[in-house]
Amino acid sequence: MLKRVDQEIYWRIKQEQEKQRSVINLIASENYVSKAVLQAVGSVMTNKYAEGYPGNRCYGGCQFVDMIEEIAIERARKLFKVEHANVQPHAGSQANMAVYFATLQPGDRILAMNLRAGGHLTHGREANFSGKLYRCFFYNVSRETEKIDYEEVARIARKESPKLIICGASSYPRIIDFAAFARIAQEVGALLMADIAHISGLVATGLHPSPGPWCDFITSTTHKTLRGPRGGMILCRKQYAQAIDSAIFPGLQGGPLLHVIAGKAVAFKEAMSPAFSVYQRQVLNNAFILSKELEKRGYRLVSGGTDNHLFLLDLRKVGLTGLEAEKALERVGIIVNHNPIPYDPLPPSITSGIRLGTAAVTTRGMGENDMVQIAEWIDAALKKREKCQIQQQLSRQIRRFAREFPVQPAD
Ligand SMILES: *Cc1c(COP(=O)(O)O)cnc(C)c1O
Repeated sequence: MLKRVDQEIYWRIKQEQEKQRSVINLIASENYVSKAVLQAVGSVMTNKYAEGYPGNRCYGGCQFVDMIEEIAIERARKLFKVEHANVQPHAGSQANMAVYFATLQPGDRILAMNLRAGGHLTHGREANFSGKLYRCFFYNVSRETEKIDYEEVARIARKESPKLIICGASSYPRIIDFAAFARIAQEVGALLMADIAHISGLVATGLHPSPGPWCDFITSTTHKTLRGPRGGMILCRKQYAQAIDSAIFPGLQGGPLLHVIAGKAVAFKEAMSPAFSVYQRQVLNNAFILSKELEKRGYRLVSGGTDNHLFLLDLRKVGLTGLEAEKALERVGIIVNHNPIPYDPLPPSITSGIRLGTAAVTTRGMGENDMVQIAEWIDAALKKREKCQIQQQLSRQIRRFAREFPVQPAD
């Protein structure tokens, strides 16, 4: 039908689908949803208005969407072992915004991770609402270890007395010690929010410590390691339920995206299955193998390695910028993003590093042997980037390889 109604969009979707099948996707924040999630998100649920919450809507005819949202909430609570869940945030950014609206006044102080050390733009970047509305202070990683220095976090927290401390990041390859953050927050009387956008799949399966016992608020996307539809969620204790719910609606959103909430419910169910634990374990194994294989070939790993699904390569030693590496890899069909490394001397538009993650390739069924092969290809694509013939040969090999691993829908 789409093909008949709108050729322009139809063919571009087809092209995107073909591209997704033909490349090796190492973007750490991306994943591929299941066919079941795709069906839920592409369903008639998109037709329904349901401002409000189950049992208390501004519209009639909500009996079925109420059930779906209730199921999604129940599953989120069970999966993350928390008292309250709000599944309405349109994305991770809105989830964070809602926590700030529920807890802060404009001008209040936030302490978060430095963006160039791995933090997210909603954690206080100047151009973002968070940086405009609040006074933001930042902790960095240690220059020596490139890991969070909890002493340093405590020192800044004592000095600046933030009302909210944020832990969680977009490009931090190490375990985050939520208990250590909780001790600091308690000492200075701050609220604590964990943004687990990247690692929520690992948290759900117990492969990263849970912030549940330690944090007042947990926010996450649902589309990264959790492998659900593009969206956000907020988890918290009962005492904050009312404040969070009203911050989302009527505070900052109108009608919820019920088709996406249906997709979130399906993804939560999938995440409770034993197969999902096996998948997350494989994501970790793949990240470990891929990083080690690249290290063997002369690339420096930021912080010396990884504990999660992603890692950063420092390319200064091999004489490349992050942007150059991203482009060289894209030319042969390997997709990554350029990313600042800690204390990066280059601007964010260029950077000295790239970020690689294994959530997406693992969903497609790639395993340890494939990681060794991919490391070999990355190395060749970067070191022989001037050799046209080798590049063409690599492109063909990578395309043939990638197409053996399906992306849903497989037809
Ligand atoms: C991805 C991400 C978000 C939210 O991103 P959206 O694009 O708004 O869904 C929030 N925080 C962190 C740490 C992230 O990595």
